[in-house]
Amino acid sequence: MASDEGIRTLTFWDEVVDTHPLTASGQTLLPKVLTQLVARPESSCILVLHRSNIVGIVTRQDLVNVIAQRSRWTKLRLATIMTHPVITVLKSELSTVAALIQRFEHHQISHLPVINENKGLVGVIVQKELLLKANAQSAETIIEQQHQRSQLFAEITLKIRQSLQLKEILQTTVEEVQNLLQADRVLIYQVLADGTGKTISEAVQPPYPSILGIPFPEEVFPEDYQHLYAQGRILAIADVHAPESGLADCLVEFIKQWGIQSKLIVPIVHPLPPERLLDDTTNHLWGLLIAHHCRSPRQWTDFELELMQQLADQISFALSQGQMLEYLEERVNLRTVELTQANTALQQEIQDRKQVEVALRKSEEQIRLITNNLPVLIAYVDAQQRYRFNNQAYNYWLGQKPAKLYGTSIKTVAGAEHYARIQPHVRAALSGEQVTYEGDLMFKDGRYHAVSVSYIPHLEMVEPGQTTISGFFALTTDISERKAIERMKDEFIAVVSHELRTPLTSLHGSLKLIATGRLGHLSDEGQQMLTVADESTDRLVRLVNNVLDLQRIESGEVTMEACTCDTADLVEQAVDAMQTIAQEQDIEIQTQLKSLAIWADPDYIVQTLTNLISNAIKFSAPGTAITVTSQSCFDHQPLPQAINTFSQSEPELALFCVRDNGQGIPHDSLKNIFERFQQVDSSDSRKKGGTGLGLTICRKIIEQHGGTIWVESEVGVGSCFYFTVPLSSKKILQTS
Ligand code: ADP
Repeated sequence: MASDEGIRTLTFWDEVVDTHPLTASGQTLLPKVLTQLVARPESSCILVLHRSNIVGIVTRQDLVNVIAQRSRWTKLRLATIMTHPVITVLKSELSTVAALIQRFEHHQISHLPVINENKGLVGVIVQKELLLKANAQSAETIIEQQHQRSQLFAEITLKIRQSLQLKEILQTTVEEVQNLLQADRVLIYQVLADGTGKTISEAVQPPYPSILGIPFPEEVFPEDYQHLYAQGRILAIADVHAPESGLADCLVEFIKQWGIQSKLIVPIVHPLPPERLLDDTTNHLWGLLIAHHCRSPRQWTDFELELMQQLADQISFALSQGQMLEYLEERVNLRTVELTQANTALQQEIQDRKQVEVALRKSEEQIRLITNNLPVLIAYVDAQQRYRFNNQAYNYWLGQKPAKLYGTSIKTVAGAEHYARIQPHVRAALSGEQVTYEGDLMFKDGRYHAVSVSYIPHLEMVEPGQTTISGFFALTTDISERKAIERMKDEFIAVVSHELRTPLTSLHGSLKLIATGRLGHLSDEGQQMLTVADESTDRLVRLVNNVLDLQRIESGEVTMEACTCDTADLVEQAVDAMQTIAQEQDIEIQTQLKSLAIWADPDYIVQTLTNLISNAIKFSAPGTAITVTSQSCFDHQPLPQAINTFSQSEPELALFCVRDNGQGIPHDSLKNIFERFQQVDSSDSRKKGGTGLGLTICRKIIEQHGGTIWVESEVGVGSCFYFTVPLSSKKILQTS
């Protein structure tokens, strides 16, 4: 206990209070103290000093209470009833009246001794006096103060908001707060994800050490504390060394190195990044705004708490803003990268397209070069039958410029008459069939040239597995030279055949005469040779006759005498003529006949039928049957394909058919079988006595009648030769 230094009257800090408390030794007996008090009625408390330092306090009221409650109070010493330690205030810390009043309330005290830096007593503030003084303050002053505060806060807020740079904002905040609160150190402590943390901004007054950037272990700031702060807890500790501060000893020891006596901590709540705001609404502690007082303990006022809290909110706002900015910047960067990439890809695509275009142009030029130099008309016709491409040959041959032809319909270019002839072929090509035909075309010199025309359909894939015909390619070749050569050849054959026929006929007659034996008998060997010679001459005569027949028909030398004749009659005539040969071969000829009036040359139709029946007999096995029918085209179901394709515009036709159950014709020979000298087996001419001209003559005869001839056959099953002739009402026999 402090030694008695006597009771002294003090000079009071007159600015605050006008009273005269006493000081007394703690050992002084109460009656002595009481005597002093009586002598100084204006004193309201006794301060107990030891070497000028305050060690205890007793108020006049405390003394009265003790005397009233204890009968032996005269033996009591001042030390036993005084309060210690004593709550004091540094003279330099004295701020506003409101702060002082708050301090009285906080400590539940009635007297507050004022001390200097050396802890020497300067005076005593009495709560009652203070309250009286406070009440005396005008309402205007209070409002003025409030205004000043809010202005101050607005200034700081503005400074914070003026910057988008977080670092700058944080530094401004700590500096402004330090300046405003006159605190020794103000800092922003950032809580890191692993529970540790560090000071990232600081404003510190000398001589106190800086704690900027120093990492703090997790123990300094454990998770449950963090949780409390995240909930909005504020911690104001007036004196870290006081037991009521609630700080653990180790922590007090730890913060000693920074000279901290008093501290005020407010949380800065972590704003979530924009993309996480939707799924997480809980608060996250980003950091703390901390004020330290190092010179002495300090009682933090409500205003200070409020200010710190509002500034922490501003920091939180700045963080959101910064985060939003960062987020936006990130998005902008991302988008920029995407756009740059898209742009590069686009540039590349443009480059590629240009290259493709150049390549295409080059290849188109090449194609034009080739097509323009080919001695053939090349065209592309679209599905609407309009020219979409013509090569230069159109200009050279026909005097038609490709540019002018472009988009013009083939009907306009060809003229109605020519178009009527080619229309079935055009239709066939546009239905997907490849067509080749021969015809005549007038060249620009006014002369007709024989041409071979091919239409090749253009199939385009619309989607996988589905095609459409978008047009056809037309190739027209000038075959007039070939035709001239063929004509010369035919004429030569005709002349030769003609020259051969007379001696051959006489030779044939002579051989026949010798064979009768009227000119004498031959030996068996001679007879055998005569038979061979007779057969060969026979074949030769047939060949010469056939060649001459064909040549005459082709050159138009023969005139077919058309008249109305009956189909059944014609068949019967042909069958009668062939009956003997059929019987020799043990082959039956059956007929199914419908009488139809046709317009034809009966001899030639009978010749055609005879030829077909003769072939059927030749290529059938003995014991089989041949069927010959005549009917209307439309009685034949299904309608033969050939009629469908070629004769749609001429439906009124009689249909003849010679069917056998013979060896049949291989599929690949069917197309050529009507051409000259075409035989499936070349030995047939010898074995079967054929010439290979029979079917060619048949075709020529039928074509001259305006009909069509074709064959359907299957090897090992049999053949069926069809031909059509117009009914007599049509009268279409071609006479030249
Ligand atoms: P050929 O005088 O040789 O019979 P054609 O022009 O009449 O001449 O016939 C040509 C070829 O067609 C024959 O050699 C034969 O190969 C084939 N041919 C004609 N008719 C028949 C048929 N009914 N059955 C099988 N093959 C036939």
